[in-house]
Amino acid sequence: MTDIVDIKDAWKTYKMGEEEINALQGVNFKVGEGSFMAVMGPSGSGKSTLLHLAGILDLPTKGDVTLGGKKVSELSGNEQAHLRRSQIGFVFQRFNLLSQLTAMENVMLPMIKPDKEKAKEILDRVGLEGKYHRLPSQLSGGEEQRVAIARSLANDPILILADEPTGELDTKNSRMIMELLTELNRGGMTLIIVTHDPMAAKFAQKTVQMQDGKIYE
Ligand code: ADP
Ligand code: MG
Repeated sequence: MTDIVDIKDAWKTYKMGEEEINALQGVNFKVGEGSFMAVMGPSGSGKSTLLHLAGILDLPTKGDVTLGGKKVSELSGNEQAHLRRSQIGFVFQRFNLLSQLTAMENVMLPMIKPDKEKAKEILDRVGLEGKYHRLPSQLSGGEEQRVAIARSLANDPILILADEPTGELDTKNSRMIMELLTELNRGGMTLIIVTHDPMAAKFAQKTVQMQDGKIYE
């Protein structure tokens, strides 16, 4: 099985004045094509930092990140940005939708080639048929997260990274969002979710635990 994500001995050190914070301390993390991985662990354990490395939103202080066989450190800034945009979808805890834009416009925003029909098709896929022209304020939290998942699919990524995707949702909506992500995974999408929620983690095929910047299987 091909590894979509292969992180080797990754360290991330933040300097805060005199103080150094080791957010990651020698993490090894592999995610195979088509798999569904959950990362759990207490607040501050380095989960978001790890996800940011997997999505080239940040680079390690030391160690290697290889995505789909390409070593990120050997790519130019433009190549990194292109890889991020074309292959990776992001879903966040607070949805991060633009409040002035409709569901359809939010989905179109990251598209490399803006396409209204495609935006509608993706919204249909996540169960939002007929709600194309609603503003985020006219949707429930669960529906907003569906729009955010639709947006993450805008450029047909091969990998979706979701940071606490159910963190703002009640139990019923959390379950629906996890079922939607599971469906995408059944369709071949590789998924990594960071979560505090054991119910959400149960949907994944594999769970790793983080603590103090290290991974425990
Ligand atoms: P988690 O997502 O598990 O809550 P994070 O990856 O966000 O943890 O953070 C890991 C550690 O790194 C924490 O101690 C956090 O305060 C620190 N940290 C994260 N981002 C930054 C930053 N940009 N600058 C300084 N410290 C940071
Ligand atoms: Mg976090």
